[in-house]
Amino acid sequence: MSEYVYTLQQLLGAPYNKLFIVILFLGGCLTSIIIAQDSQPAIVLFENVRVFDGKSAQLSGPTNVLVRGNKIEKISTTPIPLERSGNTHIINGGGRTLMPGLIDMHWHTMLVRPTHAEIIVWDMGYSNLVAGAEATDTLMRGFTTVRDLGGPSFGLKRAIDEGVVAGPRIYPSGAVITITSGHGDFRQPFEVPRIIGGPLTRMEQTGGSMVADSPDEVRIRVREQLMLGATQIKLTAGGGVASPHSPLDATTFTAPELRAAVEAAENWGTYVTVHAYTPASIQRAINAGVKCIEHGQLMDEPTARLIAERDIWLSIQPFPEEAAAAFPPGSEERAKAMEVIRGTERSYPLAKKYKIKTAFGTDILFSQKQAQRQGELLARLVRWYSPAETLAMATSTNAQLLALSGKRNPYPGKLGVVEEGALADLLLVDGNPLENIQLIADPARNFVVIMKDGKVYKDLTVEAVKAAR
Ligand SMILES: [Zn+2]
Repeated sequence: MSEYVYTLQQLLGAPYNKLFIVILFLGGCLTSIIIAQDSQPAIVLFENVRVFDGKSAQLSGPTNVLVRGNKIEKISTTPIPLERSGNTHIINGGGRTLMPGLIDMHWHTMLVRPTHAEIIVWDMGYSNLVAGAEATDTLMRGFTTVRDLGGPSFGLKRAIDEGVVAGPRIYPSGAVITITSGHGDFRQPFEVPRIIGGPLTRMEQTGGSMVADSPDEVRIRVREQLMLGATQIKLTAGGGVASPHSPLDATTFTAPELRAAVEAAENWGTYVTVHAYTPASIQRAINAGVKCIEHGQLMDEPTARLIAERDIWLSIQPFPEEAAAAFPPGSEERAKAMEVIRGTERSYPLAKKYKIKTAFGTDILFSQKQAQRQGELLARLVRWYSPAETLAMATSTNAQLLALSGKRNPYPGKLGVVEEGALADLLLVDGNPLENIQLIADPARNFVVIMKDGKVYKDLTVEAVKAAR
């Protein structure tokens, strides 16, 4: 421990949980603040773990991994010498698997728990608190990073980064940008016609989605999201399942509108990703400079080839059959959901055949119950991939797509890998997930330690020691 004298400004900018503050009042006024600060960052040593590094098809032999501050400092098969101090935490791995935290590339932080109807009517303060509770659950499922593809998640992201609430790292897109009647336009028929320049709808006021019907309008909406802190921009280039007025086969934005979005995002050093199922919507988006396709379940062979040739990312998910059951029997939405679910059977083999850069994200909406199955949805990929390929996709591969946000990346540093110098987002798994992928479907039981940014959020090894006493 060493002593420093800090100015008030420095103090206010400092993480107060690490500081022991002594305030001296002299002559009735605040003249100086003396702080005794622990000059050493926290150290966590994982002893006797087998490492899945996010890439390899095999676990390492018995290994020790040292985390200092928010980074992995040393990985060694021999004991790591350590000066043990008050802020050193040693975790006896007991031969369990240490792996990178999971990444969900298609998440809607604000839209998991409310129903469709509730999003519009909920008070925003309440929405944020509910989303905060879900963010904590997300982290406790082992998802240490999410890419948010629509919804007003900027405030929650800030609260998580500041340590106000526990949750994953968030790469926010802000509002989904759509066209009149496109996917994400949840207005009712009585709200039509829209007056250009008129008052915003409730959906737009909350920052959930924004309607734009010309290149100029698109440019404004994109730039607004970038101003608010978007790390990438999300447009809906084709029809969607859950939107009441959006046929699945529709292609929405025109090429000049898409190009306006791409130009604005690229001027800001980042990229546009689009919601698109059909060949026409995917192809138009790629030709306009879009770098990532969300979903793609209805793509055909020439479209898959185009995605591969242009080196475009495909961010896709195996929608479960039950997702269709969320819509009333006989409804148009249910029919659309079934069409997309059937498309999944074709799209993964096409992605593999053409070696498309493929990312994983769940896209769970409007269901806390579904969200509890986040890991299970990932485990479903073993239908097409080996467990090692599945876990590599949800860690190191997903992290490559996160890095496409360039200088807008809010968490510079390596994610999705267990490597010296990488950010310390780590899971200690009770068993070998490369042999039994189902371990990730039950995180409460099998994720013994959850660490994000070097901070331990869960440690069942400590609980076990306490229980034994
Ligand atoms: Zn989505």
